[in-house]
Amino acid sequence: MLIDGFALKSPEFAFYGLTHYHSDHYGGLNKNWKYGPIFATPITIALAVQDIGILQNHFRPLQLNKPVEIDGTGVYITALDANHCPGACMFLIRQGKRRVLFTGDFRYHPADMDRESADAIAGLAGDIETIFLDTTYLSPRWEFPAQRAVLDALTTRALELNRPDRLFVVATYKIGKEKVLFALADALHTRVNVSEAKLALLSVMYPPAIVAKYFTATDVTAQVHVAKGVSFKGMPGLLEHAVQAGFTSVVGVVATGWTHTNPRNGTGTLVKTATHPDCSGQAMLLTLAYSEHSSFSEARALVRVLGPKRVQSIVSTAPEEAKKIKAHLKDCMDLSTDRSTLIPFLSQTPQPQKRKSLEVIDLDPSQPQARSEFIPRRPRLEDEAALPEIGMPVLVESPVEVIELD
Ligand SMILES: [Zn+2]
Repeated sequence: MLIDGFALKSPEFAFYGLTHYHSDHYGGLNKNWKYGPIFATPITIALAVQDIGILQNHFRPLQLNKPVEIDGTGVYITALDANHCPGACMFLIRQGKRRVLFTGDFRYHPADMDRESADAIAGLAGDIETIFLDTTYLSPRWEFPAQRAVLDALTTRALELNRPDRLFVVATYKIGKEKVLFALADALHTRVNVSEAKLALLSVMYPPAIVAKYFTATDVTAQVHVAKGVSFKGMPGLLEHAVQAGFTSVVGVVATGWTHTNPRNGTGTLVKTATHPDCSGQAMLLTLAYSEHSSFSEARALVRVLGPKRVQSIVSTAPEEAKKIKAHLKDCMDLSTDRSTLIPFLSQTPQPQKRKSLEVIDLDPSQPQARSEFIPRRPRLEDEAALPEIGMPVLVESPVEVIELD
């Protein structure tokens, strides 16, 4: 079975899995699919069908928390909520007593997760052989506040800045960051202007009443718009866009964990504000400490709860990634049985590859070890918006008004 590794598609694999519809995971999938069935949640399937025109009958829908046997193989696959983007799931794969968890991108914050999935994970304590883990933020410098706290801070700041002639433009890609859009729309009592293509994707993620209430592809007077490229240096262009839509002022909004590095408790600066010097005070950028990936302590918490024998990164096989896992997760793992084979990839030589991230899980009972190949997949431009352009150095060099919200 091959998960999130469609660039490696081949008749060698009988089954495929897609954790969520972000391009660094579905890359290689196209409408001419001729390989094995793909397991995914109904929302992810609908997004793929809508976006790339692949036929629905190539997919096997998985409802959250409902194990499905893979074609009489004795192998069961269960989708668990990943708390990442709409439709995102982790895959729990069970074969006899052997259990493997493939997280995909995830945010382990049980209060925000599907309750049954959170309970299922707690119930798996001590039963997981290997976790294939999203290690995007596996470093003590990455601690984020809860999404709810950031969204509340955004609401407060948006109400302070709100005036009828001011447009808010949120950085988004195809999917992701929808909670930011909902929070702004609710705060400002407006709809969100999106492209026809994005409206079509939103229409497969949400019920018609929600789509009609929150989104429009035609009304440019809506006070919230979305754009792919929102950055500090791009603010003059964003102001031009606002003026064309009938506004005189613009606030760009970028939500990304990459700018949040408070090592203490993750509750420091939730919303940073920077005013562009070339726009007469009419253009500013809000940067939110908002992440749809696990913080360092959240990733550790998942591993600690499950106590696996092995942890393998789905981000990279680079030696530094293995070192990170060894340094930061060793105390959360079950190292009681066979120390020599617990983290075999630590001695593995990384293979130079130019492909997108990929993952191979070999479920052949005669080969008890899962095998895998990877390449780094940063920058994750799709689900962590505009990372290279709005990092801390840019903000620090600019006139910055920092709002500390405790
Ligand atoms: Zn993602």
